[in-house]
Amino acid sequence: MEYLFPVSEIFESIQGEGNRAGMRSLFIRFQFCNLTCSWCDTKYTWFKDTGYFKWYSVSELKDIIRQKGFKEVIFTGGEPALFSLDKLVQTGFNYHVETNGTAIPTLPLEIQLSDGTLIKREAMNKNTIEKFNWVVSPKLSNSRQKIDVDSLNYWAAQDFCIFKYICNNDDDLAEVEKIVNDFKIDKNKIYIGLEGVTLKSQLKPEMVDKIVAKGFNFSPRIHVLLWGATRRK
Ligand code: SF4
Repeated sequence: MEYLFPVSEIFESIQGEGNRAGMRSLFIRFQFCNLTCSWCDTKYTWFKDTGYFKWYSVSELKDIIRQKGFKEVIFTGGEPALFSLDKLVQTGFNYHVETNGTAIPTLPLEIQLSDGTLIKREAMNKNTIEKFNWVVSPKLSNSRQKIDVDSLNYWAAQDFCIFKYICNNDDDLAEVEKIVNDFKIDKNKIYIGLEGVTLKSQLKPEMVDKIVAKGFNFSPRIHVLLWGATRRK
């Protein structure tokens, strides 16, 4: 049977945050997520009935990527690692994945979501996915999700990913610090952004001082500064 990708939306913007912030990029947002974070801003991607999406074949998506002509291609969601992203690779592009870090790409995956949707994929090709820039965002307790220990151990040992956390206060920072210590993650790979969708929420120099003092990188959230909570930005 032909492999198909469920796509919620495709749009052009800049990468707003993380280790490639500011880069002109094509975003492919996949439908479906295996988590239900309390503050999720893309709840329309969660299930088959929470928003519009369309199924694309591998060649259809590759054609779109070629035609759009953006060198940087960002797979986001939802949870993009639920799908066989290695099938979308073609020469001339850089690929980035915004993942919640609960799926190990090099293992096969079979998961039934709470709406009954069954998602299955084979293990992704290791050599292929190691060339992607994986931006792993394990969720903190403020999202009311549990840490997936096996997955976090996997990502902590990889050098082709960075970790992105969104924090609001000292408790969030302390939680990140504990995870970094428990899983022995290199602090240089940690990028911390500030929670919120207003200009005021992003302008907290005292929080940035604390992030730097703890040995982490600060990630501006440029899309929030420029467009607030506007969709497809
Ligand atoms: S992992 Fe991302 S898309 Fe999924 S529920 Fe959490 S914030 Fe939303």
